[in-house]
Amino acid sequence: MSEVRFGRGGVPDWLEPMVRFCSRCGAELEFGPIGGEDRDRLACPACGFVFYVNPRLVVTTLPITDTGRVMLIRRGIEPGYGMWAQPGGFLEIDETVRDAAIRETREETGLVVEPGAIVGLYSRLPAAVVVVAFEARIVGGEPQITHESLETRPFGPDEIPWAEVAFETSVRALSDWVAHVRPDLPLPDPSETRRDFGA
Ligand SMILES: [Zn+2]
Repeated sequence: MSEVRFGRGGVPDWLEPMVRFCSRCGAELEFGPIGGEDRDRLACPACGFVFYVNPRLVVTTLPITDTGRVMLIRRGIEPGYGMWAQPGGFLEIDETVRDAAIRETREETGLVVEPGAIVGLYSRLPAAVVVVAFEARIVGGEPQITHESLETRPFGPDEIPWAEVAFETSVRALSDWVAHVRPDLPLPDPSETRRDFGA
């Protein structure tokens, strides 16, 4: 886990500019104790609105081929440009987790998947996200390049390019998948795969 600084407002520094003003009345929020809560909160002194800041859910899949390999994309956008990750993205307010998994996978790889078991659920405090990773069966579509990807290709459990995997949560999800399907294989040392950017 990378070091994370929770500064003004009790949130990571990059998030602080987004939580300065009341979204209901526009007054400046204050961070401190409020009645009935056991921790400091951002609240509006003008209208009383309490601004709860919570992590967002990132929905990802590990699309598995007929031969038991996982399809990864080489990212064409920052963060992690040129590195490998599984398809995924933020859950939208009007969709279910399962629908998001299918949509993000299709958008980023061209593949149609059927999400199955959850490989894992991963908190990443510096990015204020929780990442869920589904194992997913490929049921249609064709791998394609998108504006977000340079390449899409399958990797066997013994072929994961650990040093070039973009995100800490991707390393953790792929490690959990490999440990499940090929418990005989060595896994990367978490201290060597720590990533400072993104999720
Ligand atoms: Zn207000």
